[in-house]
Amino acid sequence: MFENLSERLGGVFDRLTKQGALSDEDVKTALREVRVALLEADVSLPVARDFVKAVQEKATGQAVTKSITPGQQVVKIVHDELQHILRGEGEPGELKIDNAPAPILMVGLQGGGKTTTTGKLAKRLTEKNGKRVLMASLDIYRPAAQQQLAILGTQIGVDTLPIVAGESAVQIAKRAKQQATLGGYDVYMLDTAGRLQIDETLMKEVEDVRDAVNPRETLLVVDGLTGQVAVEVAEEFDGKIGITGVVLTRMDGDGRGGAALSMRAVTGKPIKFVGMGEKMDALETFEPERVAGRILGMGDIVALVEKAQETIEAEQAERMMKRFQKGQFNMNDLKSQLEQMQKMGGMEGIMGMMPGMGKMTKQMEGAGIDDRILKQQIALIQSMTKRERANPALLQASRKKRIAKGSGMEVSELNKLLKMQRQMGDMMKKMGKGGMLKQAMKGML
Ligand code: GDP
Repeated sequence: MFENLSERLGGVFDRLTKQGALSDEDVKTALREVRVALLEADVSLPVARDFVKAVQEKATGQAVTKSITPGQQVVKIVHDELQHILRGEGEPGELKIDNAPAPILMVGLQGGGKTTTTGKLAKRLTEKNGKRVLMASLDIYRPAAQQQLAILGTQIGVDTLPIVAGESAVQIAKRAKQQATLGGYDVYMLDTAGRLQIDETLMKEVEDVRDAVNPRETLLVVDGLTGQVAVEVAEEFDGKIGITGVVLTRMDGDGRGGAALSMRAVTGKPIKFVGMGEKMDALETFEPERVAGRILGMGDIVALVEKAQETIEAEQAERMMKRFQKGQFNMNDLKSQLEQMQKMGGMEGIMGMMPGMGKMTKQMEGAGIDDRILKQQIALIQSMTKRERANPALLQASRKKRIAKGSGMEVSELNKLLKMQRQMGDMMKKMGKGGMLKQAMKGML
């Protein structure tokens, strides 16, 4: 479903990864090509723009490692960003269907594949999840549609609600709920009527049904081949009805895949499944990780970069630990610890991971460490010279004043920081002797 995009991106990155050193200009050119490739795949302009911007920001200022080329690193960043824009909550294909009988409302335009998808999903829930499913067609305008669902039900061995002529959509929905409750079904699926275009009557009817049954999931079924139109339809349905997820159909065709890439970013709603054909088992869960991999087709490079990153982190940690064990803990070390804390969600996050740090936590609470203070402390350290950072004992009163003033703080704050550096140094040394440091650092990685 992403062949063209995949090919285009492959070409861009092949050129990039073959080069050794990359200039900013190389990255810029590559990203310009990525943007064009995304637009050609019918990804909406704002999404393509944000995507490229995010990659650019991440690509600049990243530590480049010896074992991989910068180009490979960019591939990994693009891969992660692809995953990021595709990501939804929970597990792929997860539906909230506890509290039997759970109503699932299927909505969408006519011809989008709603009835087919209702059947596919019912089959999946029955066979894969072992659920008892009841299906009901609410299409009172096209008796043939109700027949179609009944036939599908027989084919896949899923019960359908008996057809009663002359009922309204809400009446059918209520009858389905009653039957599902009495009959001990786990799930009942309501296949609402579609129209060729979104109109008020259709929306009002779906709203009434929604209010009558209070669905656990409201899935919009939309034709993936229609690209950006699919995304617009989703926005509209979400605004009026409130959807919980999207099923993109006809992803087996030679569509450009843009709908899949823009959907989550524009509507905030995850794609839960994709339709991959007309057959009843042609429904796949939408897995951002796999899809990102497929689009980029560069799994080897991604794995290589991941491995390299792990190695550098481990090497850094090892080097740091050796220094700490010797009682070497200067302002640079403190700075990287503070930055680490920032990354890990402040004090509580980091201390929770380090055994034997209970006492330390209390002392630091006294010092009032929160995110704002972490930032100030890092600023203080940045105002020191290289020599001062390596050996804070050099700091004279006059220099302390200048540093504090330069970062808009009191000398007392700086003194607190210095005390913290000494205490942490002592602590690390003690922990190093008992072998606890090693354990603690393992927990942090
Ligand atoms: P509804 O009007 O939304 O209920 O649409 P239908 O379920 O009747 O589907 C319309 C047509 O699209 C049918 O011919 C289906 O077989 C076909 N269709 C549905 N989903 C897919 C899909 O994922 N791939 C392909 N190739 N065809 C599909």
